[in-house]
Amino acid sequence: MPYDFKSNLNIKDDHLFIGDVDANKLAEEYKTPLYVIDEQKVRSNYQKLYNAFSSKYEDLHMCYAAKANTSLAVMKILEDEGSYIDAVSPGEIYTALLAGFTPDRIVFTGNNVTDEELLYAHQAGVMINLDSISALERLSKIEGTEGKEISIRVNPMVEAGHHEHCITGGPKSKFGIKEEEAVEVYQKAVELGFKPVGMHSHIGSEILESEPFMLAVETMMDIAGRVHKEAGIDFKFLDFGGGFGIPYEPTEDELDLEVFTTDIIKLFREKLEEHDLGSPAMYIEPGRFLVGNAEVLLTRVNTIKNSYRKFAGVDCGFGTLLRPTMYGSYHHIVVANNMNAEDVEEIDIAGNLCESGDLFARDRMMPELKEGDLLAILNAGAYAYSMASQYNSRPRPAEVMVNGDQVDVIRKREKYSDLFNGQQVPVRLLK
Ligand code: PLP
Repeated sequence: MPYDFKSNLNIKDDHLFIGDVDANKLAEEYKTPLYVIDEQKVRSNYQKLYNAFSSKYEDLHMCYAAKANTSLAVMKILEDEGSYIDAVSPGEIYTALLAGFTPDRIVFTGNNVTDEELLYAHQAGVMINLDSISALERLSKIEGTEGKEISIRVNPMVEAGHHEHCITGGPKSKFGIKEEEAVEVYQKAVELGFKPVGMHSHIGSEILESEPFMLAVETMMDIAGRVHKEAGIDFKFLDFGGGFGIPYEPTEDELDLEVFTTDIIKLFREKLEEHDLGSPAMYIEPGRFLVGNAEVLLTRVNTIKNSYRKFAGVDCGFGTLLRPTMYGSYHHIVVANNMNAEDVEEIDIAGNLCESGDLFARDRMMPELKEGDLLAILNAGAYAYSMASQYNSRPRPAEVMVNGDQVDVIRKREKYSDLFNGQQVPVRLLK
């Protein structure tokens, strides 16, 4: 069934509301571009996914993939909900600790990590999920790692994802160790003095059906079975990564959570039994599913241009929301001050950066747009602000959080002076 964006939005008197607040009022008060996240949506997304899995397998750790949205306020909400954290860098470990997550609730899955980063993660006391034999060997040289519990990331030969850049399993992927060397690597880990207790894989992002994820679970559990049998490893947890998708396009359907979790848990239980793996915890690492649809980006149309094509020019660009330019991603766009208007014409919605690829939509059917209209770019909660930059010397926008009728600024709008944070001019150039 196609996804009906409008019926899933809160519309009153032709205006878009976030929580109980009119998006147009937010834009007036806090200016545009403006990210607006709905606290209750984050909480309900978390509870929906957690309940769907944990009602079928109790020992579930949901590790929020912080990279999706690292705003401290968002991390705090997920801490409050009982989430764990999937951190991919020392910066994300630092952020998670600051948000109140205890080290035992953080799994660090770095890629091409330095010795200093390994030391930081070790000293922070978080679970380290190693991505290469090199990292395993280098971690063993750090004082105090003897007997340390670790996990290893394997690359099952399964690919999934909405874009080549998001496929993180399979023969072209830079992540994890080859599945055929898993037994050897776990044996090596034991020889180096570690206590391996976990296995991890993540095959890709924006998965909307059970099939690719089931294939990944099956493949990883067969690998875990071999490692258990041949290297004598008893797993405390098996971590299947994230990738749970949300509809971005009206042609897409929502992930059927009941079918998805029933399929996955049934397979998980069968494989535990087949390989005599006991009852380890199941870890999953959702990012997009928890925050993706909880946030919109408000941006004002400032220019209507009838050139060789018709353009609506807005007050932000790919420095604010990179996904359309980076992945060619579709983001649904609505007119927040004219929600009941019919779509009447195709138009390009263009950003304000000096790059011709700076487009939010090409040939998009929209209502007739006017200068001054307020557009809401939907599904802007995941891989959105966390990917923002200051390209073209444009300060990053503000972000507010709505909770019912309450509004709080969770990121201040940057000023021109913020463009120079950390910069210094050599004294010899000062006149
Ligand atoms: N875990 C790992 C290791 C990842 O690389 C990612 C995303 O790239 C995620 C979890 C989260 O993926 P998603 O936001 O699609 O759930």
